Amino acid sequence: MDKISPEKRSWTMARVKGKDTQPEKMARALLHGMGYRFRLQRADLPGKPDIVLPRFRTVVFVHGCFWHRHSCKRATTPASNTEYWSAKFAGTVARDAMNKSLLEMKGWRVLTIWECELKEVSALQARLRAVLRQPTMS
Ligand SMILES: [Zn+2]
Repeated sequence: MDKISPEKRSWTMARVKGKDTQPEKMARALLHGMGYRFRLQRADLPGKPDIVLPRFRTVVFVHGCFWHRHSCKRATTPASNTEYWSAKFAGTVARDAMNKSLLEMKGWRVLTIWECELKEVSALQARLRAVLRQPTMS
C-alpha cells in the first residue's frame, strides 16, 4: 500500500501525528474561552477529530495548511521529491474527505479550523459562533 522508506515514514509521521500540536492547543483555548465545552480526540470517530462538541453534534479538526492543503499560501509544494509529495498530499486530502463523509453520515457536523485562521482570532471566533449557532441536520 505504501512504499515509502521507514526513515521517511517516521519523519513524516512525527509531523503528522504529533499530539497537542500548537495549533490544536490554540484552538482548544479559543473554544474554551468562548464558553464551549468539549471532549478531546474521540478514538471511536472517523479520523479521530481533535475536538468534539457533543452538545452541538460537531467535531472539529485543526488542520495544518501545508499537510492538509488549505487554499492559502502556506500550502507550498517542496521542490524536490515532487512525486512523493503529490501522492502524500493527495492521500491526506482524500482521507480527510472520506472522514468528513463518514462523520456526516453519522450525523456529525464537521468543522475545520485552519492553522492560518488562528492568526486572525476575532474573525475565527465570528465564524465558529456563526456555524455553531446553526442547528445540525440530525
Ligand atoms: Zn491556511
